[in-house]
Amino acid sequence: MSRVLVSTLLLTVLLSPYANAGRIPPMTMTPLISPGYEAEDKDERGMWQLFNRLEEDIANSNLVVRDPELTAYVGGVMQQLLGEMAADFRVYIVRNPDFNASMAPNGMMIVHTGLLARIKNEAQLAAVLGHEAGHYFRRHSVQRWRSMKTRTAIMSVIALGGAAASGGSGNSNWYDLANAINSGILLSIFKYSRSHEQEADAYGLRLLAEAEYAPHQAAAVWGQLISERMASAEARNKRYRDRSRSAMSTHPPTESRMTDLRLSANDLDEMMLGGSGGRAGVRTWRAGIASVGSSLLEEQVRLNDSGASIHLINSLADGGWTSDLYYYLGEAYSLRGDEGDSELAAQAYADAVQFAEPIPEAYRAYGYAQIKAGYTEDGHQALARYLELRPDAPDAAMTRFTIGQ
Ligand SMILES: [Zn+2]
Repeated sequence: MSRVLVSTLLLTVLLSPYANAGRIPPMTMTPLISPGYEAEDKDERGMWQLFNRLEEDIANSNLVVRDPELTAYVGGVMQQLLGEMAADFRVYIVRNPDFNASMAPNGMMIVHTGLLARIKNEAQLAAVLGHEAGHYFRRHSVQRWRSMKTRTAIMSVIALGGAAASGGSGNSNWYDLANAINSGILLSIFKYSRSHEQEADAYGLRLLAEAEYAPHQAAAVWGQLISERMASAEARNKRYRDRSRSAMSTHPPTESRMTDLRLSANDLDEMMLGGSGGRAGVRTWRAGIASVGSSLLEEQVRLNDSGASIHLINSLADGGWTSDLYYYLGEAYSLRGDEGDSELAAQAYADAVQFAEPIPEAYRAYGYAQIKAGYTEDGHQALARYLELRPDAPDAAMTRFTIGQ
């Protein structure tokens, strides 16, 4: 190799912020703390106290989803993934349509509903939970806390939130307010460095494979997110840009992150699963989130990002169409309102009511679409069925009026 070429390559490696970062072999990731760990030195205790206070607010937040079936399901996945160590974690599902999850040093984990809405199987949920647990086991927060700059930033964010709450309406706590104003300030509390993200990815993969979940599902989560964002950008006539590639980002760029996850998943599959690929758990996932599934779709569709919503729904339907998926597809078309969309919506509603136990709202949407198309009798029948299933619906009186009851 010529000297010019070698130095060009070397320069490329040095200038590229990621090429020299290297992939972390998952099996080198071991916990830095043991079960039942409590903060040790004064520094760390101070940090825990702060996060305990934050957790109190979060636990009492109006945004926390308190669904016993979902809670039990997520707890069960944590148990399979972490065994006895699962007892050191509290997982809060928070209503927020963004794709995100956070890990605090005291064992508080936050998972957004927007993340659950984008997951297709249990292995993908386990991948996210395992990644977050990785931050905890590797004590990434403590390392951040040792830096005075970071500490000051976290304290000021929390103080700011506290001030906002005490000046606010009183019945919501600062966490709710901060979420309503700008969830970005909250995210800054839980931000980790790029190398910490790489460690957490590697750790999560190891946990995934040890629990015999499909390790390739970790990269699949990112792949899904990228194609959804591309669909969203395309619908808005914009070119997709991987924003995480900016120098400001603390997350490794999704493309290189996916490549690392894939390569490590190959290794783990061969080493630990005999090349079987592990289990994805599509049915257990669908059963596990059945109690909240439609509210996850509702939240997404109401964002009125039709490109993302339509893409997401079609992608979720890879695992089989359901009444909910058809109904919300119809809602996404209705909200978009382009030429031909009301016909597409009407078709989706018609598909939604074909199921044995359709989502009740599908009867309402189908009924109105039929009336609009001139099939009054059929439309009235559907609306009557909607009223039977939802006699206390907010629009029940209006619906009764429409059908002349
Ligand atoms: Zn992370």
